[in-house]
Amino acid sequence: MRALTVTPGTKDSLRLEEDFAEPAEHEGGLLVEAVAVGVCGTDREIIAGDYGEAPPGGDRLVIGHESLGRVVEDPTGRLEFGDLVAGIVRHPDPVPCANCAEGQWDMCRNGQYTEHGIKALDGFARDRWRIEPEHAVKLDRSLGLLGVLLEPTSVVAKAWELIDRFVERDPWQPENVLVTGAGPIGLLAALLGKQRDLDVHVVDLATDGPKPQLTHDLGATYHSKPVHELGFAPDLVLECTGAPPVVFGVMDAVGPCGVVCLTGVSTGGHQIPVDAGALNRALVLENNVVFGSVNANARHWKAGADALAAADRKWLNRLITRRVPVEHYREAYADPQAGDIKVVVEFGER
Ligand SMILES: [Zn+2]
Repeated sequence: MRALTVTPGTKDSLRLEEDFAEPAEHEGGLLVEAVAVGVCGTDREIIAGDYGEAPPGGDRLVIGHESLGRVVEDPTGRLEFGDLVAGIVRHPDPVPCANCAEGQWDMCRNGQYTEHGIKALDGFARDRWRIEPEHAVKLDRSLGLLGVLLEPTSVVAKAWELIDRFVERDPWQPENVLVTGAGPIGLLAALLGKQRDLDVHVVDLATDGPKPQLTHDLGATYHSKPVHELGFAPDLVLECTGAPPVVFGVMDAVGPCGVVCLTGVSTGGHQIPVDAGALNRALVLENNVVFGSVNANARHWKAGADALAAADRKWLNRLITRRVPVEHYREAYADPQAGDIKVVVEFGER
């Protein structure tokens, strides 16, 4: 069968192997036929040789952590032939730490977790894959290819769950949210904000392409200007750019008792001047919460599947701006093109 593999640590080693071994029984009882994988920045970092780890005993890694497949067989009988599923990316560390022991591997304390397509577990960019049935999340069949959006949606669902916990601390309830960055994570964060009946504002540099209209069609407000020029203090912020000036800008801009969730991963090495004393004073005097959030556990994956099932299919479909057959994988993993939001690699029947 076909598999997209890399040699981790070697730049530009991505290739389509035609005779890759069928998934081994020890990978899990659930056998799945691939429909598609989503492409994201982590994949490009792995292809650049900056990231990624092969499974123990080998030097190749199957990439692809944003999955969608159809069930071929489930020995537990929970899933039926043809059910649409996505595979949960992270698995608990073997120790396990206190969090992994309770199924909260997204909060792993020792870093010894494994991740499909990223860290010591083969990914989903292959014709067939196996996973433990409890690590597969069922999707509404009517979503079709749109189910490939579940992994980024799970990340956003976790961010929202944590925001909910922080806003429970006082009687006041937030009315608006500012989302910075209108990429897949930002737009999905905005979608979940609308599903919570919030007044949603999205900030992004783009003035053309699909982002302004997608935001508008969600019933949200699009701004292409710096955060400090917005003219209002947001109650909540979901920061999805990782760009240092934006990160510090939203901490400064958030309103009293406001909560800032940071989800963007910065590359580091960029220095910007910050008045740390003024920023600290503003955060303290306004009882602000600033926190980071990454990855997702089973509860968030299920919440993400529910959010997608409740979303407008035509709107979701516009998030997938390019569909590339696996034979043309190089087009999908090359540098992003203007207007790209989510690029997916499709696996035809094989
Ligand atoms: Zn752990």
